[in-house]
Amino acid sequence: MIISHDFGIGVVEYEERGKNNEFPLFDTCPNCKCPAHGNLHRNGYYWRYGITEVVTLRIPICRLKCLQCEVNISILPDFLIPYFQHTIHTVMKRVNQILKKKKAKGSRQLLRFHLNRYLKCINWIHSFFIGIGKICGMSGDIKKEATKYMKMILDFGESPFLRRSRGHLSKYFMAN
Ligand SMILES: [Zn+2]
Repeated sequence: MIISHDFGIGVVEYEERGKNNEFPLFDTCPNCKCPAHGNLHRNGYYWRYGITEVVTLRIPICRLKCLQCEVNISILPDFLIPYFQHTIHTVMKRVNQILKKKKAKGSRQLLRFHLNRYLKCINWIHSFFIGIGKICGMSGDIKKEATKYMKMILDFGESPFLRRSRGHLSKYFMAN
């Protein structure tokens, strides 16, 4: 399972700290809720990309394993969307530029991929905001809705949105 964690820093500082980041400690296993002591073990790191408009960094992701339920847990910094190499800020900024018909950085193929994933998630985003009592109706105009929810996510805060919405309808933001 993936835990989206707020380290309170951006990707550049996270990369500088590397394995010395302040990784969270748990009292219980996030999956089976058994006591963490004696059960939840550090299980090394894996390395992945964190890409912004200006830098491409390799960063370590801390892994844990629960001996009770055998689940593997990855502590993903909340500036990253699970399985996306670009930071959430970069992805959202580019999608927003496309929605506003402005020129966005990045290959056309990647931009189309990010935009399509975002559009595919509109109903899910809508359902998340209904769940927290934020809205009402939705029009059939996908472009209009895409712009409306873009603003709502930015107002909510990209990373807080990522953390709060994780697991909503057993999905996460931008998942297929
Ligand atoms: Zn467990």
